[in-house]
Amino acid sequence: MEWLKYSRETMPNERTAGAVLSIDLAAIAANWRQLAALCGGAQRCAAVVKADAYGLGAGEVAPALWNAGGLVFFVATLEEGLTLRRALPRMATIAVFNGPFAGSEADFTAHDLIPVLNCPDQIARWSAHARAVHPLPALLHIDTGMNRLGLTERETRDLQNHPESLDGIAVRGILSHLACADIPVHPLNETQANAFAAVRGLFPGLPASLANSSGIFLGPRWHGDLVRPGAALYGINPTPHRPNPMRPVVTLHGRILQVRDVDLQGTVGYGATYHVAGKGRLATVAVGYADGFLRALGNRGSGKVGNVRVPVAGRVSMDLVTFDVSAAPGVQPGDLIELIGPDHTVDDLAAEAGTIGYEILTALGRRYCRSYKGFKAEA
Ligand SMILES: *Cc1c(COP(=O)(O)O)cnc(C)c1O
Repeated sequence: MEWLKYSRETMPNERTAGAVLSIDLAAIAANWRQLAALCGGAQRCAAVVKADAYGLGAGEVAPALWNAGGLVFFVATLEEGLTLRRALPRMATIAVFNGPFAGSEADFTAHDLIPVLNCPDQIARWSAHARAVHPLPALLHIDTGMNRLGLTERETRDLQNHPESLDGIAVRGILSHLACADIPVHPLNETQANAFAAVRGLFPGLPASLANSSGIFLGPRWHGDLVRPGAALYGINPTPHRPNPMRPVVTLHGRILQVRDVDLQGTVGYGATYHVAGKGRLATVAVGYADGFLRALGNRGSGKVGNVRVPVAGRVSMDLVTFDVSAAPGVQPGDLIELIGPDHTVDDLAAEAGTIGYEILTALGRRYCRSYKGFKAEA
């Protein structure tokens, strides 16, 4: 297996990588338990592990959550479902938010993946597939105000009037999604709670799911029978206006490649956008936008060397970023600079880049050495 040997040899490790990404699986499990406790127990709390568990590695994260008591997992795409199926025991329920594209229905059945059906076309195709096979499970997505996916009010009424469109489909539950859960005072939360209550009335006896991470913190009216947290599991603050109730999960340390003293009037990096005023010290770190250290962090981001906060100097390059370490004169090549950590969180870095923690995590690069702690899946 030459290729396997090759891929192992070229996998970034602690000695060679430009940065070390450390992921605390015990913290993810603790976050899930905390959310489950808020919502009435393990049965009522799914885990969203789409986009490779928000960039942290579904193959490691999902078994840790299963071990913690998680039973229901959501991914976005069929491919993510197929990957996850290999990482979890057969008994685990895996649902796929995007549902099937035409022609992919059989892949769902072959791997025991439950589609979320988001529109009449998907319902018709799944029903046709089920009639050709045997009754098949699905979740129905009803839109309550997001206008992204899900049946409209009118399509929902049509479904009520034509129950035969669900022939062959064993509807396991209904779900809807909140648009503004991270803004508790937003009136759409109230509107969606009311619309969701009305929809539940149309499907009596079916389990219903509404809340994402932030929705859980809106209160029990938004919980339904199954909550679907993603971000909060990974340490992103689900209550942006209040202190973060979740445990931090991720630390990222970049390695300094070169340090230089500058004592002339000079500029740093592409476009010459950072001005060195007189005497100073610069450290260039082996991390760039190709690693998910977003280009928007140019002249705006910061890191920490020891206890000193140091600013990004100039633009972020593809593979490199320079910091002004004048305030931390002891730094040496090979030292690590903290880019994400306990007091410079994913949310802090996101704010500096003008984005949200979700984008920071899902952009985390493949060139980092990834170090998992807190749980080891059986081989
Ligand atoms: C991504 C997603 C979630 C999880 O949202 P978080 O804000 O990360 O908790 C839940 N439901 C749906 C439909 C989603 O697409």
